[in-house]
Amino acid sequence: MKEKFLIEIANEYGSPIYVYDAKIISAQYRRLVSSFSKIKSLKICYAAKALSNISILSFIRSLGAGLDTVSIQEVKLGVEAGFDPDSIIYTPNGVSLDEIEEVSSMGVRINIDNLSLLEQFGAKHPNKPVCIRINPHIMAGGNSKISVGHIDSKFGISVHQIPHILRIVKNTQMKINGIHMHTGSDILDIDVFLNASEILFETAKNFKNLEFIDFGSGFKVPYFDGDVETNIEELGLKLTQKFKSFSKQYGREIELVFEPGKFLVSQAGYFIAKVNVIKQTTSTVFAQLDTGFNHLLRPMLYGSHHEIENISNPNGKKRFYSVVGYICETDTFGNNRKISEISEGDYLLFKNCGAYCYNMSSNYNSRYRPAEVFLLDNKSYLIRKRETIKDILRNQIKIEIPDKK
Ligand SMILES: *Cc1c(COP(=O)(O)O)cnc(C)c1O
Repeated sequence: MKEKFLIEIANEYGSPIYVYDAKIISAQYRRLVSSFSKIKSLKICYAAKALSNISILSFIRSLGAGLDTVSIQEVKLGVEAGFDPDSIIYTPNGVSLDEIEEVSSMGVRINIDNLSLLEQFGAKHPNKPVCIRINPHIMAGGNSKISVGHIDSKFGISVHQIPHILRIVKNTQMKINGIHMHTGSDILDIDVFLNASEILFETAKNFKNLEFIDFGSGFKVPYFDGDVETNIEELGLKLTQKFKSFSKQYGREIELVFEPGKFLVSQAGYFIAKVNVIKQTTSTVFAQLDTGFNHLLRPMLYGSHHEIENISNPNGKKRFYSVVGYICETDTFGNNRKISEISEGDYLLFKNCGAYCYNMSSNYNSRYRPAEVFLLDNKSYLIRKRETIKDILRNQIKIEIPDKK
């Protein structure tokens, strides 16, 4: 995107600011759909937790997507954004039976990932269909970064517990309408994904009345030039083949579901912040911004890499900087980064800020959460206002405390 245009956005709406480009979201959506074009019934359920602004949700709905949710609040947000309840799947972890029952009564697809709640729900509501989340325990070369469903993961019901699942289903007479997995990791090696899919197909054969099989997501996107990404096109070809042969054995072709979050929105998002101070120390040059881990937590939370560019001086001489925030804790966005020479007042651009960025923001240090802007059909729309002191105080209650002096 053009630097000048992004600077205009920051000048118009203020800094710091999140900006999302609709064109990139729809291009990624089309890429995924066309990779699986041979599947009769394909459903892309966008994972709302990646970026859940209501305008983003309704844009993604307009592309034809369903929604993947992990809380009753995300379900309500999805309904508010215009999703039909039956196009929403609810995949919680560790929630109460009450919440599952409430979501189920809204007509949303329910995905259960533990035996205790499966048995309790099945006993109470044998006629309400349920999907089961399986943990396939596939490990790739012992590298925890690319493994699929660790043995000690809290997610899913172990594939080794299928006999127990079958006993519960038989005893309660409950209906199983789907089989699900979600690995949660950045998938680099699609063979790992394909091995896990075999386990899911084998599992599915135990259930005669399935409506869908759901492979979750975990598709990796590139974070810098030359970075690896999941080869969606190759995955499409290979998984389609496996799905077709499963369908033959199963006797019919059921719906195939994916739940991409990062894949659809990561690269569509930019975060722009302003440089408050340049601070030389004995060991480095700090660029200190008008933001911190209150607005962009991923680098500090799990060491994620976000490319940083100086859009105010794109062609300047490159120098090394430590880019940090204004929070009174260590909040380093990037160490020793080569960036075009930075002056106080410049705007820096962070890339890959669509997924898990705004949605992890907080009011730490009593700072306001930033505004969000959506670029659609060559126009910019404010889709969330910057907070004010009213938002900080909204739910606080000031009790009367007399002076002790
Ligand atoms: C988070 C999540 C996703 C999305 O994962 P990405 O890596 O962002 O694609 C999909 N399904 C479930 C159940 C999730 O919890």
